[in-house]
Amino acid sequence: MTPPASPAIMNHPSSSIYGPVKSWRVGASLGVDLLLETSTCSFNCIYCQLGNIQLKTAERKIYVATEQVEKDFKHSDWQHADIVTLSGSGEPTLALNIKEVIHFIKEYSGKPVMVLTNGTLLHDAAVRHDLLEADKVAIKLDAATEAGFNQMNRPVPGATLANVIAGAKAFRNEYGGNKPGVLCLQMMIMPTNVAEAKAMAQLAATLTPDEIQLNTPKRPYPLEWALDSRGNHEAASVPSRELRVINEDEARALKTLFEQTTGCPVVSVYRE
Ligand code: SF4
Repeated sequence: MTPPASPAIMNHPSSSIYGPVKSWRVGASLGVDLLLETSTCSFNCIYCQLGNIQLKTAERKIYVATEQVEKDFKHSDWQHADIVTLSGSGEPTLALNIKEVIHFIKEYSGKPVMVLTNGTLLHDAAVRHDLLEADKVAIKLDAATEAGFNQMNRPVPGATLANVIAGAKAFRNEYGGNKPGVLCLQMMIMPTNVAEAKAMAQLAATLTPDEIQLNTPKRPYPLEWALDSRGNHEAASVPSRELRVINEDEARALKTLFEQTTGCPVVSVYRE
């Protein structure tokens, strides 16, 4: 389908589409928010750029109607995006219409689609199936032990690291193959979990990702929720507090450790 030229309309502040925001990794990334009303996630990570998650849930349902996303997308600046990223105000796989939305974006725009997920629902075959059409899926993995998982990600009751790993392994077996899917692990390293880094690298090796991204928090932790936190803004619009981070030498050493342990391409995103 050849889409009509989109008029130069700025995204409405409560649109399900935001950006494009510049990322040195993927270029201009257009964000899709399938949650929108408030921050909604099965994790409440200690470093989350959304701040304290307002709705902590693992319930899959439709949070924003597909028709609304389609309308917002058509009115966005999608032509200037290099990639479309599903993350937004929380965990995108909670949205039951994620597959439908991925399909629409690819058909309408021809742009590649990336999904950022915390992996808590990957044990569900229906969720894994929904993600097969994405060009890139990045799974968050910030710990190698259940204690570290609970400390870094503060999951909803019932979510375990063992489940995330089992789901990620099942997805690895189903994703890619004769389709061009790229599986990435996104790992946040902070003073809180740096002691688990060696074990995290060993764990990452068992998942055979196509790429590993080592991150440090790029922004202070917001003390209130605001919709504009979902974008990659330099200055938060709400009060925030600084997070403790590892230093650049530690980040360099960890990149080498992960490269040697996993044999995978590793990118280290030190605060940008
Ligand atoms: S998984 Fe992502 S959205 Fe959810 S709390 Fe963690 S950083 Fe925030």
